[in-house]
Amino acid sequence: MPAQLSCDVLVIGSGICGATLAERAARSGAAVLILEAGPRVTREQLVLRYRNAPRKGDWMAPYPPAPWAPHPVYQNDAGSRTDQATGRIAGREGAQKGNGYLVQAGPYPYPAEYIRVVGGTTWHWAAQAWRNLPNDFRLKSLYGVGRDWPLSYEELEPYYYQAEVKLGVSGAPNTGSPRARPFPMQPVAEAWAMRRFRERLAPGGYPVVSNTTARNSRPYGGRPPCCGANNCQPICPIDAQYHGGLAVAEAEQAGARVSPNSVVYRIEHDDRGRIVAVHYFDPDKRSHRVTARTFILAANGIESPKLLLMSTSAKYPGGIANSSGMVGRNLMDHPSSSLTFDAADELWLGRGPQSPASINTLRDGPFRSERAAYRLDFTNISQVRAATEDLIAAGVYGAELERQLRLKAAHQCNVKNVIEVLPHPENRISLSALKDAWGIPQPQVHYSIDAYVEKGMAAARRDYARIAQLMGGTNLRYTPDGQYANNQHITGTLSMGRDPKDSVVDAFGRTHDHPNLFVVGTGVMPTSATSNSTLTAVALALRTAEHIDNA
Ligand SMILES: Cc1cc2nc3c(=O)[nH]c(=O)nc-3n(C[C@H](O)[C@H](O)[C@H](O)COP(=O)(O)OP(=O)(O)OC[C@H]3O[C@@H](n4cnc5c(N)ncnc54)[C@H](O)[C@@H]3O)c2cc1C
Ligand code: SF4
Repeated sequence: MPAQLSCDVLVIGSGICGATLAERAARSGAAVLILEAGPRVTREQLVLRYRNAPRKGDWMAPYPPAPWAPHPVYQNDAGSRTDQATGRIAGREGAQKGNGYLVQAGPYPYPAEYIRVVGGTTWHWAAQAWRNLPNDFRLKSLYGVGRDWPLSYEELEPYYYQAEVKLGVSGAPNTGSPRARPFPMQPVAEAWAMRRFRERLAPGGYPVVSNTTARNSRPYGGRPPCCGANNCQPICPIDAQYHGGLAVAEAEQAGARVSPNSVVYRIEHDDRGRIVAVHYFDPDKRSHRVTARTFILAANGIESPKLLLMSTSAKYPGGIANSSGMVGRNLMDHPSSSLTFDAADELWLGRGPQSPASINTLRDGPFRSERAAYRLDFTNISQVRAATEDLIAAGVYGAELERQLRLKAAHQCNVKNVIEVLPHPENRISLSALKDAWGIPQPQVHYSIDAYVEKGMAAARRDYARIAQLMGGTNLRYTPDGQYANNQHITGTLSMGRDPKDSVVDAFGRTHDHPNLFVVGTGVMPTSATSNSTLTAVALALRTAEHIDNA
């Protein structure tokens, strides 16, 4: 429990976005307190938990939820299916069962994964740190679908660069997002498998480039360069990847205080609509009240809207910041289909980072008025475990197992898409009737996939077939129609916009309804575009921090 229950800037949630803003506010001299629902964790603890997990390959093993801060954990029960090539959970059935927290109201599953610990979900991420394209900010004006953002790419560009410097980002030049300055570092050395993809696909018109990632290729930020251990998800054992735990350490060095195991459950306002305090439970379920001048909601794209919806009053019966009725609505992610096949070349996936390369020429064009755009991403996850499990399940043993395993480990590969989704108000987070152990409503998700995405998926399937052909691929296995995996880019639920009637926050993340309440995180993004969302959210958080500082 903090000694002092008052501060200048109170941040709810210590993920990468909340911690980034907290650091900037503390550096400007504000007294900053971060209330974080989950416990502190250390890298050593997480690595040991993963190494000692009884079920190998269980990416959630290092992150058991605290009783007071539950998060979804998907079980590999009869209904769920972990994609053996990508490691991602997929499947209509699987998402309905076994996650123990996030209630699925259908019609399509939304198997969100996130983690409630100090530092948040990026302990667990793949560190892809793409910028949006300039046209992603003008989808409605250019293509007549989705929404426009209330700011332009050019306005966000300086903050993208600040975010890249903070996270230590590298990437290929000329992928469609203009830059005023070069990346802070060169990409990690190209993995052999990615070189073969690049060389074989170029003649077919598919340029394969290094992914833009927050992963050190040289000593940077006091951390070592990537050594190619291929363990990036669920935890980089040497901190070559940036993550929210580092962002919290930087915030604390700047003077911010962190109160772990502090579950915020109510936001309180005065008669004028200004936010005056938040209330949180400690692990003994004792309630505390903290006052502040400025409040930052940074609890992620699902927990943040949940908290706003829970904070009802006579003045705000629909919850805080919800005069538009848009809190929790317009939920998006990047669903993925994929193709697994056996390439003609020996690729030996597994040396180097897990997500090293992709094709980025399919992210924009006039076709976006009709169907979704996408990136195509190549996995580099070692195939040994997945192939062994498949072969044993098929009853292959002894010398034949070894022979087939060698073949699979060398040749099996996978390409997936990261596809754009449009915002629809009916896709939403709401409060379920179920309560967690502390009596707090569990979030409920209502989600559907529209024809725009399905048409994009059909186009991606044509690209997969062509890629397999260029790679001399055999034994082609497409994900079944409708069995799309989530990419955990939880967007739209706190949408930014100019019109207070159809958005929650303005272009600086300030809620339209409450002058001293700001929101940071992926939830504020009005459209999902085709880039993994975190870098954009961090850039927006830096812009919010500057705005508060200048106010
Ligand atoms: C397996 C996986 C791979 C991913 N890979 C990528 C990738 O390669 N690139 C990319 O861009 N994104 C990736 N993501 C998504 C990325 O992790 C998120 O976009 C990012 O973590 C969002 O940051 P955030 O700060 O908004 O939220 P979070 O990181 O989720 O942090 C929110 C914090 O708020 C706290 N909190 C929640 N409720 C409360 C409460 N009531 N009171 C107090 N605190 C609370 C939580 O405990 C948590 O610490 C991946 C996600 C997963 C799961
Ligand atoms: S390959 Fe991944 S896990 Fe290994 S050092 Fe590099 S970033 Fe870390």
